[in-house]
Amino acid sequence: MKIAFFEIRPGEKEFFQTKLSAHELYFSGEPINLATLPQKDFEVISTHTNSKIDKSTIETLPNLKLIATRTTGYDHIDITSATAKGIIVCNVPTYGEVTVAEYTFALILSLARRIPIAYNRVRSGEFHTDGLEGFDLNGKTIGIVGTGHIGVNVIKIARGFGMKVIAFDAFPNQNLQADLGFTYATLDDLYKQSDIITFHVPGLPQTTHMLNMSHLDTLKKGIYIINTSRGSVVETAALVQGLDKEIIAGVAIDVMEEETHLIENAEATLENHLINHPNVIVTPHNAFNTVEAKQRITETTLANIENFLKGTPTNIVKPHKD
Ligand code: NAD
Repeated sequence: MKIAFFEIRPGEKEFFQTKLSAHELYFSGEPINLATLPQKDFEVISTHTNSKIDKSTIETLPNLKLIATRTTGYDHIDITSATAKGIIVCNVPTYGEVTVAEYTFALILSLARRIPIAYNRVRSGEFHTDGLEGFDLNGKTIGIVGTGHIGVNVIKIARGFGMKVIAFDAFPNQNLQADLGFTYATLDDLYKQSDIITFHVPGLPQTTHMLNMSHLDTLKKGIYIINTSRGSVVETAALVQGLDKEIIAGVAIDVMEEETHLIENAEATLENHLINHPNVIVTPHNAFNTVEAKQRITETTLANIENFLKGTPTNIVKPHKD
């Protein structure tokens, strides 16, 4: 088999080289780029989220049989076009439920206690607490949008902090409420009641701009918004306007609507406005990035490829139905 890995990260290459030594392997640290592909006869490709695998990519690779994304989300892949051509798409459904939940709280605590500002202050030679007053999480209401693998772990951690938890999900799991100590609400009520809102839904047409300009007037004044899911879920312009109008007190995001060309467009984009705002923390799609999570990603991806080669594919992603 001709197998190509894109966006390969340190450690991954050696792992796949050892485990798939019987195959013809190609590795690139870059996202897939049709212009620079050395060959077009790959049968299996594996990527992260910066590789946009659209219809034209799929049509340029006539022998393609399997796309093994090394991610949970698969909004970077045109699943409908792949499936129509008989190409199997598989993902890593559960590598990071605790990993991303812990990171969500790292972002929440960084905002609540102004850690990045405090850290930079001491490094710049100052040692005082002026302007660093934060707030307790205990007793605050957190609204969790999406109660899947990650959302459930965020609920557990939030309860550990003594927070009141409300949640919204298109497919609520009612049994969870009593077990974990939270209640489901409508999205509108969650927006009205929360002191902090955090998003844990997949990037889908149905979740695009779930928080948008039309919600600004319904949010509690002084709310904090966290997003570690997908940039498309929260309208960037609404975050910027909410901050400017002082409806939103702070934003911490690991994902952006426009992630790939941020540096090239370093001028006055909405994304750059956010990045430079004093009450905003932006990290570079880093929530998954722990030793343990990456080990689970490579092991599950290897299993996905090996199971496909055996004729018993696993973790298949299907086109989303409304
Ligand atoms: P999951 O599939 O277990 O849970 C997603 C939840 O969203 C489900 O409960 C589902 O019912 C709900 N949902 C789906 N469509 C909805 C809609 N239209 N409205 C409301 N709820 C809806 O996924 P997960 O493992 O919890 O991961 C969530 C997302 O986090 C992933 O899809 C991925 O995009 C993102 N993620 C980001 C990172 C990172 O590094 N920042 C890492 C892993 C995952």
